[in-house]
Amino acid sequence: MKQETICLYGGYTPGNGEARQLPIYQSTTFKYATSEEMGALFDLEKEGYFYSRLANPTCDAVAKKICLLEGGSSAMLTSSGMSANLLAFTNIAGAGDHVICSAKCYGGTSNLLTVTLKRFGLEVTLVDPDAPEEELEAAFKENTKAVFGESISNPAGVILDLEKFARLAHAHGVPLIVDNTFATPINCRPFDWGADIVVHSTTKYMDGHAMTLGGCIVDSGNFDWEAHKDKFPGLTTPDESYHGVIYTQKFGRDAFINKAVAQLMRDLGVCQSASNAFLINIGLETLHLRVPRHCENALAIAKFLKDHPKVDWVNYAGLPGDKYYDLAQKYMPSGVCGVLCFGPKGGKEGAMRFTNALKLISIETHVADAKSCVLHPASHTHRQLNEQQLVEAGVLPELIRLSVGIESLDDLLADISQALDEV
Ligand SMILES: *Cc1c(COP(=O)(O)O)cnc(C)c1O
Repeated sequence: MKQETICLYGGYTPGNGEARQLPIYQSTTFKYATSEEMGALFDLEKEGYFYSRLANPTCDAVAKKICLLEGGSSAMLTSSGMSANLLAFTNIAGAGDHVICSAKCYGGTSNLLTVTLKRFGLEVTLVDPDAPEEELEAAFKENTKAVFGESISNPAGVILDLEKFARLAHAHGVPLIVDNTFATPINCRPFDWGADIVVHSTTKYMDGHAMTLGGCIVDSGNFDWEAHKDKFPGLTTPDESYHGVIYTQKFGRDAFINKAVAQLMRDLGVCQSASNAFLINIGLETLHLRVPRHCENALAIAKFLKDHPKVDWVNYAGLPGDKYYDLAQKYMPSGVCGVLCFGPKGGKEGAMRFTNALKLISIETHVADAKSCVLHPASHTHRQLNEQQLVEAGVLPELIRLSVGIESLDDLLADISQALDEV
C-alpha cells in the first residue's frame, strides 16, 4: 500500500461484520479461560493482551499504522513525545553511558538529556549538526550508546544530514535515533537514509487537531545489536526481571520494542490510552492531505515575508536560498513542514506588536496544528532570559515561530499583512 492508503487502512483490518472504524478497547484488562493461557502471556510465550499498561488493541493498531508509514519493523505508542524519547534513550543507555545529541533540538529533549537523565548518571555531548565529520567524530567515546537528532529541528528548522549522522553512528557501532515529528513519514522516511530508530510526538501533525498528547517509537529492525553485544547487554544478555529472556534471541529484529514494552513500559508506565489512540488514528487518516497543504501555505508565507519591508529575516528550509534548502531538497523533496521562523523589524518590541495585532492566527504554546498559531519565545517560553542570554541561547529577541495551518492562504496573508502594518 502507498502512504495515502496506509493512512486510512494501515494497522486495522476488520473481519466480516466487524466495526469499520477502529474500536476503542476501553478496558484495562482482558479475560482468559485458563490459568495456563494467562501464564503463557506472562512468559512472553504467546501474543495477546492482559493489561493495558503493556499493550492494548487500539493502541497497537495505531502503532502498527505509524510503523507501516515509516517502513519500520515494530512500534509502540507512548503517552507523549517526551516519553517516547525517554524510553528510546533508556532502553539502551543508563548510568555510566554516554549519548550524542544534536544541539539543535527541541528544548524538552535537551532538558531531558542535560538535566534529568544526567541526574540519573547518563552523560550527553551536544554537537553542532552542521560540524564537519572529523569534528563530530571527536564526540564519540568508549561508552557512547546512541546518536540522536531531529530530521527538522523544532523550532529552528535545521535539517539533519541523515546520511552523515547514520554513517558516523554506524562507524562507532551505535544506532541513530531520529525524531521525525515535524517532517512526518509523508515528507521524510529516515529509515531510507540509514536511521535505526524513529521517534514521534504524535501530538503534532499526526493528531493535527490539538486534541491529545502522544508519542511513538518505531524500530527499523536493521540495527545488529548482537554484532555489538558488549555495548548493549540489556538486549543481548538475560533479563533477570523477565525470566532470563534474551531479547535479541527471542525477538530478533523486534528486540528493541519488545524490551521497551516488557521492561520499561512495565516499570515506568508511560502508556497511551485507548481513547486518545483512537483520536490519533482519526488524525492519521488525513495526514497525507494535511501535510502537503501545510507545506504549500508555509512556503507561500515564507516567500511573502522574505520580500516584506517590515521583516528582517526568514528561516524556512523550503525557501530557495535558505541555509538548509539543499538538505531539504535531498531528504524531503515533496515538502518540509508548516513551521517557519522569522524576525520582524523592531526587535522584541516589534515582535510583540506583531503577535498582539494578529486577529485570525492565535498565540499558543503549540505547533504543527490545523489552525495557525504563533509563539514569541522571548516573551513566552524563554521569558526568564535577558536580551544577552537570549542571543547566547540562539533565540533572537525578535524571533517568531509561526506554525502555518491549513486555512485559506488569502486569509492568512491578510492577517499577517495587517499585523505587520502595526510593526
Ligand atoms: C513537541 C515535541 C516533542 C515533545 O512531544 P510532547 O508530545 O509534547 O511530549 C519532542 N520532539 C519534538 C520535535 C517536538 O516538536
